[in-house]
Amino acid sequence: MASIRVGSVLGIPIRLGVSFLLVLPLLAYLIGSQVGVTVELINGIFRSAIDSGPLTEGVLPWLLGVSAALGLFGSVLLHELGHSLAARRYGLSTESITLWFLGGLAQFAELPDDWRHEFVIAIAGPIVSVALGLVCYASFALLPADLPAAQFVIGYLAVLNVVLAAFNMLPGFPMDGGRVLRAFLSRNRPRLRATRIAAAVGKGFAFLLGIAGILSFNLFWIAIAFFIVIAATGETRQVVMEAAFEGLTVEEIMTPTPELDTVSPETSLDALLDRMIRERHTGYPVVDGGDLVGIVTLEDVQERASERRDGQTVRDVMSTDLVTVSPDSEAMRALTALQREDVGRILVTDADGSLAGLVSRTDLMTVFEIARTSQSKSIAPRTIEQ
Ligand SMILES: [Zn+2]
Repeated sequence: MASIRVGSVLGIPIRLGVSFLLVLPLLAYLIGSQVGVTVELINGIFRSAIDSGPLTEGVLPWLLGVSAALGLFGSVLLHELGHSLAARRYGLSTESITLWFLGGLAQFAELPDDWRHEFVIAIAGPIVSVALGLVCYASFALLPADLPAAQFVIGYLAVLNVVLAAFNMLPGFPMDGGRVLRAFLSRNRPRLRATRIAAAVGKGFAFLLGIAGILSFNLFWIAIAFFIVIAATGETRQVVMEAAFEGLTVEEIMTPTPELDTVSPETSLDALLDRMIRERHTGYPVVDGGDLVGIVTLEDVQERASERRDGQTVRDVMSTDLVTVSPDSEAMRALTALQREDVGRILVTDADGSLAGLVSRTDLMTVFEIARTSQSKSIAPRTIEQ
């Protein structure tokens, strides 16, 4: 998902997705073009008597649309901060909060282990939304009746924050309600099973929403249905990975240094390419007299192919900006680092910086397949009992 960083709140980076920048004007337009209907709705809910006449004249509806749309995304941001602050209480940090066209997404470095923590983190967002709704409701009641524009925006946000909380409490992934459900389910089952059930419930909702969307030609509902299916599948994948790597350390899955093919910085590029063909590796740690000095990959050589001169060596093209993990860290950590840095292999170094081994994407996938096979065998009898 393409996004740009716009700043940070309480030390948490806030990012705007490209889809958000596209949808904000659209949302402002939709709200602005429905001012009359919305005023009726607000008057019905709050027993107020806002006159929609003046609000639909000139550029005012569009100003109202922009204010309400910005207010809505501010509300979403506060909702996500609710999750983040609850997570911080349990020592879990938020990598970033991204606003995109269907709302917000708080990205955590890791999932909470204790089901109670997951429950509190999940429920914190909807609680913030309900609280915001109540604050807006109280402000609405206090507003003088001769400020219809302010009444419109505040009344709109009061209703939408409650709708936001209600939608998020649907009991299926990826909604917060799905996390609440998984928290309760994982009290007495493995997390993976709990995740599968919560994801299946989420997909059930998505299916109903998709059907309703098709029957009523509501594109927005169909889009949400797709989003739910994709996110529920992603969540399951993540937990399947975690379950497969559970209890494994980097040391157990890495190729240790004695078995590792390395090159020296003085190796010529021709000799390097020869070895790549012969040994079928596309990357090598670069070791100089026993010290790790860099890593060289086929990409490094390709990138500099145009400027290639005779006599170039590994030292000229290798990268010295190394992503490393320690041998005793969790295997999942190596996978996360690979994904985050988008590299094909990660170096394992001891505390003194010396090379202990290497974990490649292929190593991880092989371990994953084996672990998954052995797990599905031990899970099978349980499935039959239920
Ligand atoms: Zn939430």
